[in-house]
Amino acid sequence: DHLVNQIAAGEVVERPASALKEMLENSLDAGARRITVDIAQGGIKLIRVNDDGSGIAADDLPLALDRHATSKIGSLDELERVATLGFRGEGLASVASVSRLTLVSRPHGEAHAHQIIAIDGTLHPVEPAAHPEGTTVEMVDLYFNTPARRKFLKSEATEYAHCAAAFERVALAHPGVEMILRHNGKVTARLPVQSLADRVGAILGRDFVDASLIVDSEAGGLTLRGLVASPTFSKASRDAQFFYVNGRFVRDKTAQHALRQAYRDVLHHERHPAYALFFTLDPAGVDVNVHPTKVEVRFRESQAIHQFLFHSVHKVLAAGAG
Ligand code: ADP
Ligand code: MG
Repeated sequence: DHLVNQIAAGEVVERPASALKEMLENSLDAGARRITVDIAQGGIKLIRVNDDGSGIAADDLPLALDRHATSKIGSLDELERVATLGFRGEGLASVASVSRLTLVSRPHGEAHAHQIIAIDGTLHPVEPAAHPEGTTVEMVDLYFNTPARRKFLKSEATEYAHCAAAFERVALAHPGVEMILRHNGKVTARLPVQSLADRVGAILGRDFVDASLIVDSEAGGLTLRGLVASPTFSKASRDAQFFYVNGRFVRDKTAQHALRQAYRDVLHHERHPAYALFFTLDPAGVDVNVHPTKVEVRFRESQAIHQFLFHSVHKVLAAGAG
């Protein structure tokens, strides 16, 4: 079943950035307030994520690398209203089956840390280690055991760009978490705990924030908060479309359509709108179980949601257009 794991892993770990996303989501689910990411050679050589989250008990280290073992969902019923970013229990198992993985952790309040190493799908025994409270996951040599897959990777620069994008998507939604990114030993992003506006400024540029309008609306259990580029902002591009559902970055047709229509209605042109928007709803109203990489979701009441998103943004743009 090592082969089965490797095949399944391909779904989850399409490229280094997918491994990074899994690790970052685990750190957030563990309640981290500080996350440090080290990447070497576009992530193909190394991705190391260190956090100060709740940690993993020594006895649970092998479980964390077990496929379908998750500490986050206890029943099928809970799957209906999943509140964590992870819930399948296949993130780390997938990364481990296509790399050399080291997991080191010290739970909060514990005096000692432990580590486990997985190489080519084989778990080595848990051993004592030195580590502050929190967890470090280190992935080395992605696809060293699946050379055919490795051939599909792009240049280091391209793979790094995907990693940086994955980092930014997470960072944008978590201004309360200090986040640092290094590539080949050089700091490429240092984000302190900051306000949402400052975090958006650090990632999308101060000019975006200065030329943006605030969205803050709520109706029938739905909320939409964040920033949309004002009608006068001219640098709008596809790259500035950040939409989150219950804290999860998604690309959603309903949302894209509603937002484009709001812009078109007010501005009468087809330019791509720019936004950083955070939408929340009752988790039971959205299916996040669509695909392992999870950038798609399915809404139960997509028409009502379309209307809510359209009106929330339309109102703000119309006021901004004066
Ligand atoms: P999932 O996130 O879907 O539960 P993963 O394979 O990504 O599955 O992780 C497996 C388990 O390992 C998690 O449920 C969690 O208990 C533990 N884990 C992984 N990373 C961390 C971390 N950074 N801090 C604390 N626990 C972690
Ligand atoms: Mg996970």
